[in-house]
Amino acid sequence: MKQYQLEFIDSNHFIGRLSEFKEKRGAVEDSKMFFQIFSEVLEPEKIREVCLGIEQVFPEAMYMGCSTSGNIIDCQLSSDITVVCTVFEYASTRFQIYQYDLLAENVDSITGQIVAETEKHPWVKAMEMYFTIPEGSTTRFCDGMKDAALDIQIFGGVSCSDDITSNDCLVFSKGGKISSKSLVVIFYGGEEFYVDSIKVTGWKPLGRKFHVTKSDGCILHELDGILAYDVYHKYLNIKNDENFFYNTLEFPLFYDHNGTTILRTPVASNADGSITMTSDMDVGSLVQISYGDPSTIVESIREDSRRIHQFQPDILHIFSCAARRTFWTSKEPTYEIEPFKDISPSCGFFSHGEFLRTKGNLNQHNVTLVVAAMREGEKKDLSSMSVLPERGTLSKVPLVSRLATFISVTSLELEETNKKLEYANEKLKMAAIIDGLTGLYNRKEIQSQIEKELAQDSTRKFSLIMLDIDNFKQVNDTYGHQEGDMVIIALAKILHNEEMAYTDKFSAGRWGGEEFMLLLHDTDVSAASFIAELIRQCFANTSFPSVRMQTISLGVTQTREDDTLDSLCTRVDAALYKAKKSGKNRVEVI
Ligand code: GH3
Ligand code: MG
Ligand code: MG
Repeated sequence: MKQYQLEFIDSNHFIGRLSEFKEKRGAVEDSKMFFQIFSEVLEPEKIREVCLGIEQVFPEAMYMGCSTSGNIIDCQLSSDITVVCTVFEYASTRFQIYQYDLLAENVDSITGQIVAETEKHPWVKAMEMYFTIPEGSTTRFCDGMKDAALDIQIFGGVSCSDDITSNDCLVFSKGGKISSKSLVVIFYGGEEFYVDSIKVTGWKPLGRKFHVTKSDGCILHELDGILAYDVYHKYLNIKNDENFFYNTLEFPLFYDHNGTTILRTPVASNADGSITMTSDMDVGSLVQISYGDPSTIVESIREDSRRIHQFQPDILHIFSCAARRTFWTSKEPTYEIEPFKDISPSCGFFSHGEFLRTKGNLNQHNVTLVVAAMREGEKKDLSSMSVLPERGTLSKVPLVSRLATFISVTSLELEETNKKLEYANEKLKMAAIIDGLTGLYNRKEIQSQIEKELAQDSTRKFSLIMLDIDNFKQVNDTYGHQEGDMVIIALAKILHNEEMAYTDKFSAGRWGGEEFMLLLHDTDVSAASFIAELIRQCFANTSFPSVRMQTISLGVTQTREDDTLDSLCTRVDAALYKAKKSGKNRVEVI
């Protein structure tokens, strides 16, 4: 692959340059090359002139283009209208360019067509996308692309204009129209075509994580129940004024989505305390404020550039967020991408959003740098690889970076302490209502549950079963207290037992010593006595190592009108007493 670039000054000059290029290029067929036009100029007439020029000199060649917030050639800003010609050198390499009208067709139909295209052409290894600024979110589009074969890489950018806050943009292609609502896709592939794509943010997480507790598409209402604007104001003292966008640019939100971390930038703060974000954020997802520190960003880009260098690309396509360009106020806009300069020729643009497929999921990013590396043919011998020059390595970690690490570690420790506290609180809460020996509710809790039931609709009936182990004193006296405990625990297990199949219908509590109370919701006395009988049989059939068989007696009653906790408990106690009196190991109902 080779990259040639031309600038457009006027039609005549451009046609002259194209003709010179045609002569120099020699015998390459038009079908082995295509043109990309990156334009900061949005007038359709100007763009038409560029297209006509290409059509005149290279009638068979394909082209596509988009409006931008700055054009990049070889990691430097290039002219307002930059034309790049990519020439493929391998016969096996193939490409195709399609334009999809986002107004005429719905998103699902477009993703369906794109996926179908990749299925029809198994040679496809990568798709490069040029979107116009979407009205809402691109999540549905991204989700639709999941169906494309997993090994197909997808990358690209959202077209825009030099005004970062405006929605002006356009894309176009040969055979398609110049459109502010379209998507252009370049399909690349072939046996000897290789591609790799990465994203770099360089932004680092700062402080604690928040849950998105309220959002509506791109409108972020609340984080952990706090108004989104209040979070920015409280933690970063960012005011709700005309500089909100520029002030938050250094502190976008890290957003966990599809197992990938995406950056979302606040665009504006609204009167109701919500914040408009660059794209949608789902309720329930985790976010974290991040910070952009120049040295840290450059260092992380350097690291990733080494990986791209290893890939030995012929060309690089670069999609960098226009917000990043704004971020480097005191430097060249392309300052951070310089490390890629020594790797291979490159072209690209400053975009309104960046696309990258990671782990099978396509995501739309913001404030991100996406780099696609392409190559024809196998890698060369490693020894022939050029060594990337060191560009002034960092000697000292900047203070802000150290402070950010300090804050992140501190909040992580706090989060862990909070988790431990939450766990301890949960345990305390449980200890207050659960009996230690049996794990059943304690008397206070089961009493309070009975009271709650009584306070509810009086037409709803419920029943109680009270049970007591027969002749338990003897067990203790003969075999010791520990053996006695084993018997109590075994009985509690039966009361817990899910095989009873009534578990969601009853609550079991230890009433005292070896006495238990069951509260059976929505259960009448006949069903309750049936359950009581099951429990009796089950316990009677349980064998213990030394104590052998034991029995229980059970009393059953159902609620009556005007029952109080006292009257109900007295009645069930009387039923139990009756069972004891009548010979034990039985169920009695009152
Ligand atoms: P009855 O058939 O009339 O119920 O006779 P009983 O011997 O079981 O009499 P009662 O229910 O009054 O006896 C309760 C005994 O249970 C007294 C006490 O020693 C024993 N006990 C109470 N709590 C525990 C405990 O947590 N562990 C053990 N091992 N024994 C307990
Ligand atoms: Mg007893
Ligand atoms: Mg007893």
